[in-house]
Amino acid sequence: MKPSEFRDKPVETNAPSADEVKYTTCYMCACRCGIKVHLKDGGIRYIEGNRNHPVNKGVLCAKGSAGIMQHYSPARLQKPLLRVGERGSGEFKEIEWDEALGIATDWLGRIRQSDPRKLAFFTGRDQSQALTGWWASQFGTPNYAAHGGFCSVNMAAAGLYTIGGSFWEFGEPDWHNTKYLLMFGVAEDHDSNPIKIGLGHLKTKGTAKFVSVNPIRTGYSAIADEWLGIRPGTDGLFVLALIHELLRAGKIDEEYLVRYTNAPWLVIQDEGAADDGLFARDGEGRAVVVDDATGALVDARDPDIVPRLAGAVTLADGRRAVPAFQLIAERCLQPRYAPDRAAAETGIPAATIKRIAAELAHAAFSESIVIEQPWTDWAGRRHERMVGRPVAMHAMRGISAHSNGFHTCRTIHILQMLLGSIDTPGGFRYKPPFPRPIPPGLKPAGHPHQINPGRPLAGPPLGFPTSPEDLLIDADGTPRRIDKAFSWEAPLAAHGLLHHVITNAWKGDPYTIDTLFMFMANMSWNSSMNTAGVIGMLTDRNAATGEYKIPRIIYSDAYASEMVAYADLVLPDTTYLERWDCISLFDRPICDAEGAADSIRQPVMTPDRDVRPFQDVLIELGARLKLPGLTKGDGTARYPGGYADYLVHHERKPGFGMLAGWRGADGAQHGIGAPNPRQLDAYIANQCFWRSEIPANARYFKHANRDYLDWAVGMGLLDKPEPVVLQLYSEILQKFRLAAEGHGAVQPPDEHRARVKTYFDPLPLWYMPFEEVAAGPDAFPLHAITQRPMAMYHSWGSQNAWLRQIHGENRLHINRKTAATLGIADDDWVYVTSHHGRIKVQAKLMEGVNANTVWTWNAIGKRAGAWNLAADAKEARRGFLINHIISELLPERGDGQRYANADPVTGQAAWYDLRVRVDKAPAEDQITEPRFAPLPTPPHLPKRPAILRYGARFRAARSRERQ
Ligand code: SF4
Repeated sequence: MKPSEFRDKPVETNAPSADEVKYTTCYMCACRCGIKVHLKDGGIRYIEGNRNHPVNKGVLCAKGSAGIMQHYSPARLQKPLLRVGERGSGEFKEIEWDEALGIATDWLGRIRQSDPRKLAFFTGRDQSQALTGWWASQFGTPNYAAHGGFCSVNMAAAGLYTIGGSFWEFGEPDWHNTKYLLMFGVAEDHDSNPIKIGLGHLKTKGTAKFVSVNPIRTGYSAIADEWLGIRPGTDGLFVLALIHELLRAGKIDEEYLVRYTNAPWLVIQDEGAADDGLFARDGEGRAVVVDDATGALVDARDPDIVPRLAGAVTLADGRRAVPAFQLIAERCLQPRYAPDRAAAETGIPAATIKRIAAELAHAAFSESIVIEQPWTDWAGRRHERMVGRPVAMHAMRGISAHSNGFHTCRTIHILQMLLGSIDTPGGFRYKPPFPRPIPPGLKPAGHPHQINPGRPLAGPPLGFPTSPEDLLIDADGTPRRIDKAFSWEAPLAAHGLLHHVITNAWKGDPYTIDTLFMFMANMSWNSSMNTAGVIGMLTDRNAATGEYKIPRIIYSDAYASEMVAYADLVLPDTTYLERWDCISLFDRPICDAEGAADSIRQPVMTPDRDVRPFQDVLIELGARLKLPGLTKGDGTARYPGGYADYLVHHERKPGFGMLAGWRGADGAQHGIGAPNPRQLDAYIANQCFWRSEIPANARYFKHANRDYLDWAVGMGLLDKPEPVVLQLYSEILQKFRLAAEGHGAVQPPDEHRARVKTYFDPLPLWYMPFEEVAAGPDAFPLHAITQRPMAMYHSWGSQNAWLRQIHGENRLHINRKTAATLGIADDDWVYVTSHHGRIKVQAKLMEGVNANTVWTWNAIGKRAGAWNLAADAKEARRGFLINHIISELLPERGDGQRYANADPVTGQAAWYDLRVRVDKAPAEDQITEPRFAPLPTPPHLPKRPAILRYGARFRAARSRERQ
């Protein structure tokens, strides 16, 4: 239009942008924000954050907005595929769903009737683990897990075994009341928008200090009031030095310790005895403490006494015992944990450590927060107000993905307890369903009597061992799971060990499998260490039989990821905008500290390809396999309506279903209630989420607040209104240590004894990461780690046309001073060498990184040809993965043993322990190494456009409307 025409026809500022707006839940990362999808002319016009949603309150990040390009990606698979060439050749033929499901049923049916363990069913970052784990149980295999073992199980396990909750996305700082936030190694994916909103609140209010502990100053660290560029793997030592200082200064909350933790519980001191290090108990099995007023031994839960925190006592049988707190204090006051000693290892000056300790103490004890809200504790004592220590902490993968991550995370929780700041005003707050009993009551199933051909597994595949008897091992100590979770190699592997499945299945260690069934797990690329090795294992054949060593691979993915080429049968999934889904309280709920909540995804688009939601496929496969939970007595499908039908009608036990909102025949019940056939309609009417507020008198001290405990029982979150006693001292760890010392019926094989004895320490502990010890300080003098960019979520985003414009390639970031000593200038090409391999990449110099550390963005590099990108796409030529030089095994020890590159308590993959050398490389072709042969594009993928444009048709339609 000409300018004069604008005058005559003013711009419509509030024109309807859509024919229809549908609510659902974002899935561009793990955060699960509420979104409004604007639909116009049968297409997605744009995506907007839902202001009413409890997670994001309207905030939408770059990834969430770019969901349009995820939905319209040219990499979307089109139809089921059956491999016709060699594995890895990318040669497939398209088949019909009936044939695909028939093949899968045939393969899986034979296994189930002979040995269900021959199925290894593992998923990646999916959000339907409440279904997939239950399905594995119904099938009868213990060989199931999702991706937690290579993500952050150290965080989950350390939290659940110590405070009955955890950081991750299961707890949050008290954003409105905190005066001091200490954050460790947090990337921008878990709890992403809530943390951004919370940090925005802190910065706006300006009354709290935010300290970020992270080797790299990106993301949240970039806006911190103080950045501590710690050396990777030393966070636990830093925290122990803080505790050392606080103990020396007497700045601990004794009242909190006495009321809510096992600090005063007496620990038996009888070296060599079978109960050394266990709690002294009375005839009823109750832990005992010393009553300070009388000196008598009394029940630790007696609310009318004040117990002692120090001083040895003689038990009735003449043995010595001391309060747990005394052992903790003696450990933390050791000279090796003094700030002066910790400074050299951590890279944080002793004066800074002492100052931070003093600041924590000041915030906790001189700025306490009082909320004028009466409450009643578990023993019935009324408190007139809620008084809190306003120091909050949060931590995530950066401290977790180390071989000392479990103890580091446990030590942070111990620091929180000593400051009295767990679930108090201003501190760290549990989100329902946490806190839970320590640990939660589920034990992993997989003992011989629990696995029977043709029958379900007698229990869940994952759980929480509390003693060696719970381990899934044979009489000789051989692991019973293919990933060796819950064995002596990884006793508390609460999330399973996805990163070991392919290697173990290939080796036949501890046994061979028949079928590897995977969903959303890009194991031939960015989800594996030792990528080239794993590709070799997926394609390796048995010399005698000519069969693949992993005989059958079924894979489900929505996109032509690197893993598709290695599958025998490909079951194409939908995008997240084309299916029902459920963010269940059974799985990873979206609760906040003041409310329980869950949500759904509803299909906002109809697939234009011959693809099916994986969850529907799993339910149909279950019916075809006649799994008891998925068929009726007459053999017909129990959930003929697929996942939506299951979400509404499935009950774990009477009244407990996948969704907590609008239960009961009339939809009037919440939490517990009979199935409601109109439940999904109720969710859709409420913008696809449900939330129930915690009463005001139950919002803090949840672990010991009678009103919270009663509310949680009423909601079905807890079985009993029992207080959760925080475990400053871990008796469970001591039980495993005693086994390693030769006590009990179940003991580790000799090769594991010393390791279990050392690392199952009931007290806080820091040790140097294993790879650093093995590599030595000279050959590989630098740490190499990755960071999650705000605009990407693993490999998902780096095929997205809009997000690729933000991060199309990645560099190796090096501290400018370190680079100078190596003779490396900005944009130079360098070799990065570990004990396992070498990559060639381009360097970028910066100041905001620890001098001993190099880093890059995670998962930007793509294999040429994958994701329907051009073979010469920037991601393939200029992008790279650090995974190529990370080994799943540590270097060989003197005795020939090669341990997993993992935490010895949980088995968590120690991605961030990597040590490297960096040398200048010839620039030459300006292409990253290693190079892999380009993958062919699967059949019938749309032709990739040179430039992917979107939205032009809406603009054209708008112009037409204006004229
Ligand atoms: S934070 Fe994650 S879930 Fe939320 S809008 Fe961004 S991508 Fe979506």
